[in-house]
Amino acid sequence: MNGVETQKVLIADDDPINRQVLAELLKPEYTVLLAKNGEQALERAARHTPDLILLDVMMPDLDGFEVLRRLRAEPATAGIAVIFISGLDRPEDEATGLKMGGADYIAKPFNATVVMARVALHLQVVRQQRLLEHLAHVDALTGLANRRRFDEALAAEWQRASATGAPLSLALVDVDSFKQYNDHYGHPAGDRALRAVARTAATCAHRPGHLAARYGGEELVLLLADTDAAGGQQLVQDLNSALAALAIPHATAVAAPVLTVSAGGATLAPGETASDLFAAADAHLYRAKQAGRNRLLWRD
Ligand SMILES: [Mg+2]
Repeated sequence: MNGVETQKVLIADDDPINRQVLAELLKPEYTVLLAKNGEQALERAARHTPDLILLDVMMPDLDGFEVLRRLRAEPATAGIAVIFISGLDRPEDEATGLKMGGADYIAKPFNATVVMARVALHLQVVRQQRLLEHLAHVDALTGLANRRRFDEALAAEWQRASATGAPLSLALVDVDSFKQYNDHYGHPAGDRALRAVARTAATCAHRPGHLAARYGGEELVLLLADTDAAGGQQLVQDLNSALAALAIPHATAVAAPVLTVSAGGATLAPGETASDLFAAADAHLYRAKQAGRNRLLWRD
């Protein structure tokens, strides 16, 4: 994501000389994986999810077109970019490769400079696509997951919890008297305060299966897979303690002279839908606000 990691290129070609020539070309800049037939190409693609595959069309057993078809049929490998390298240089072969979803088509004998340039171009496209995908799921102000990402995660975790019976908890966390904070300290300070709460939430919800997201405004949501009611409540209390330790002054707050949060939580009950779970947490957040803020209410 950050461009520090070397991109991975899988070379699939049944001709050992071709494999070696391509590998020598690419090794200085990329992590190179090799496959000598179609089956190996599929196996390595699934295991290593390379960023790009240089795929020979003419291979015994599984040819390159069939390998691409199978890659596209599996969700884990469907998005991998493929450049065909082929001894078939008729326009209709090239057309077939591109129509099937190949990103590019290079005819043999290939020119090293052209191969390098095209590989670099397509890897650049891959990087840009990843960046866009990342940005589409991140809240710009806080760096937490955004609502879209949360919605997707809730659907997936609900499905998993319903199928396996693993506990699933959800907590809504709302910054108390945030409008007054912004009015008193100004919006830049409000943004900083929100970022501090977001960082605290992300630190507390740190286990695999935990997701801290900004739901909207000054409201965060914690999606806690494999976490029962006791674990969920503990986590929100930890968040609350960590925030108290920061002691961010809030002169015009109703509940305390520092920035506090109210939270409502619930743990998935048998037969409950994802929206039921969310609504239950939301109702308890509302009650926590009504009861004077700076508190957590969890559905029994
Ligand atoms: Mg071949």
